[in-house]
Formats: sequence, C-alpha cells, structure tokens
Amino acid sequence: MSEVTKDQVLEALRTVIDSDSGGDLVSLGWVTSVQVKNGHVTFVIEVPQQRVHEFEAHRKRAEEAVNDVPGVLSVTGILTAHNAAPHQCGTNPHQCNTRPAGAPDEGGPPGSEAMHGKLALPTIKNIIAVASGKGGVGKSTTAANLALAFSGLGLKVGLFDADIYGPSAPRMLGLRDARLESNADETKLLPLENHGIKCMSIGFMVPEDAPVIWRGPMVIGALEQLLRDVEWGEIDVLVVDLPPGTGDTQLTMCQRVPLAGAVIVSTPQDIALLDARKGLNMFRKVEVPVFGIIENMSYYICPKCGHRDEIFAYGGAQKTAEELNCDFLGEIPLDIKIRETADNGTPIVVFDPSSPHAQAYINIAKAVWDKVVKIHAAGSRQAPRLVVH
Ligand code: ADP
Repeated sequence: MSEVTKDQVLEALRTVIDSDSGGDLVSLGWVTSVQVKNGHVTFVIEVPQQRVHEFEAHRKRAEEAVNDVPGVLSVTGILTAHNAAPHQCGTNPHQCNTRPAGAPDEGGPPGSEAMHGKLALPTIKNIIAVASGKGGVGKSTTAANLALAFSGLGLKVGLFDADIYGPSAPRMLGLRDARLESNADETKLLPLENHGIKCMSIGFMVPEDAPVIWRGPMVIGALEQLLRDVEWGEIDVLVVDLPPGTGDTQLTMCQRVPLAGAVIVSTPQDIALLDARKGLNMFRKVEVPVFGIIENMSYYICPKCGHRDEIFAYGGAQKTAEELNCDFLGEIPLDIKIRETADNGTPIVVFDPSSPHAQAYINIAKAVWDKVVKIHAAGSRQAPRLVVH
C-alpha cells in the first residue's frame, strides 16, 4: 500500500468542525503540525488557552477521522494551548502549555503548577543540564554520549532532549522510527528506550528539521509537560539536552527544572568561548552549580599517521574555565567516528566503549558523577553507588 500523505491527513482533519465557529480544524488554522512516518501519524492542534477543555473532544474526533484514512496504522493527536495573546506570554511558563494525547485534565490550566517554583519529578534523583552558548558545538552529541556513559557506569539513565531548534536524540539513539505510546490508563507517555537508557524528545512529535510549532512562548509549557507527563520510572540521572543559547527559554527552564548542576560544551574558538561565558553566567544567575566546561572538537588525530593537529585555538576552554573559576571537565577530539556513530544511532560510547574517544566521555561522566556525589554528601542524601563494569 502506498504511504499515507499529509494531504490525506489534512483532508480527514477538515471533516472535524468546531461548532462554535462553524469552521473546520484546518481552515481555522488550528492544525499546526502533521507528521507521517510509515503509516504512523502525529498531528498537533493548537488552540486558545481558554478553550482547551472543550478541545479534548475535538482531538478525539480528529484522531478517529485520521484513523479512518486507508493505510493509517496509528494516530497520535497532541493538544497544545496558547494564551489568547501569545505575544504577551513572554517567558511566563504558566501561560502556555501542551497536553499530550490522553494526559489527564487536571482541572486548572495544565501548566498551573508552574506558578509554584520547581517542577516536581519525584522518581528522578538527579537532573544534569548540558548547555552551550550557541548551536553546532556538539552539545547534543555530548549529551547523548554522557547519558550512555552514565548508564555504562551502572546508573539508571534518562535523556531528555529539550533542543527544540533541532531535536536529535531520536536519531542519535536509533529511535527515529520509534513511536510514542501511553501507559495503560493513558495518563502518561512512556519514554522510548534504546542502548539501556530512556529517552523523551520533542523530536518524537515533530520532525528534526521542522520544529515549527515550538514558537517562543509555547516552548516552556510544552517542555514542562513533556518532562512531567512521562512515566520515567526510577532514574538516577536525567541528562537534559538544553536548547542552545542563553535566552529566556533556557533561563526559565533552568529555573523550573530542579537541576543538580550543569555542564557547558564549547569548541575552542574564542567566539564560542565568549558564548560559554554567557552560559556560565546564566547558571550562576539561577544558582545552579556548573560542574564544568567540556571542550569539544578540541583536536584532530589523523587516522592515517596518528599526527595530532590542533586546528582551532586549542586549550581555550581550559583557560576560560580557570579564569572563570570553574572546572575543566575534559576534551573531546574532532573525529569522524564520533559524528558517524551518533548519526547512525549508536554513539561511540556504545559502539566502541574501549576507544579513546569513548573513554574521554566516560571520564567526564565519572568526574561529573563525583560532583553529584559530593553535593549529596554535603546535603547528607545518598547518591546511588556506582557499579563499574
Ligand atoms: P549541537 O547540539 O551543539 O547543535 P550537535 O551535537 O548536533 O551540536 O553536533 C553538530 C554536528 O557536529 C553533528 O553533525 C555532530 O555529529 C558533529 N559532532 C559533534 N561533536 C563532534 C566531534 N567531537 N567530532 C566530530 N563531529 C562532531
């Protein structure tokens, strides 16, 4: 059977009429994203905040309509709500939210707990943010490899990909074709799993190259709900791949998510390091400990002759770390294997754990974990013991 097309899905969604306005979901501009992969359809309906409760019925009808399209194997409709005047939302998280299909209607605005400080994530013991001052420095690659390195150390690990500008965890963990499912009573989404770690990513809902719906004010609410409405189970370390940069979105996330600490990824170039400084200042502003800076694409070893080349201004991150009174966690070489293995869904830490590159990530993970343990010791809470295989 030929692949279901987006047009067919839109056609089905046009049959769902909003009785208030008499228009259909598509003509009213409420369908903001449609994704079709091998017969599995995901779509997003974005509605005004004040009408979100009525829209659960629309979502269900929309799912049914799409389900009737020949060739459709599964349908996930996601309801997102925005404030009636989205441009006024700013970074205030409780004005915006996203409710995954089947998630409970809690009576008040679903993001309303956002008004009361940090998100409650009781089954997650430690959350570590991986940040960068700008995109393209290898933050996501580092986050995925660190998460896998933590897992290799015997910890229960989750990776939360909050990089709305380019969610890459599904690709890096070989979960591109995986499909989200709800738990038995349909109150929470189940994280997807591969290589022994759990993963949730905005990329499971929108394609990696088209995160169109996550405009400014919606981002925080959407990310919070994705984090909260997931049945994570017991997790020792949740690695959060933050969106690159140090803007309001990142700042609000750092305020809302109970972070144990953060690591900053930077390339050696000065410009990126300037951005790294901004990252450091952001975490200091919100009183999140910075565990240290990682220098990525630090040097290059010629695979033919073994010659080491410091293509950029090598050592910049270490110097900056010293200047800023923050730890230098280690350096990762620029190597095609790191890129290829991440692109192919089995990052180097799993693909070739004894390689020097994997060891570099593993050593950084150990250094970070030492810091987590110290924090717990200071607060007299027990961190899980490491079991080194
Ligand atoms: P960011 O999350 O900072 O935008 P990514 O992790 O997506 O960056 O990396 C950007 C690109 O650089 C990807 O193609 C990735 O495979 C590649 N890359 C990252 N780190 C390395 C490295 N150490 N060596 C080679 N390629 C790398």
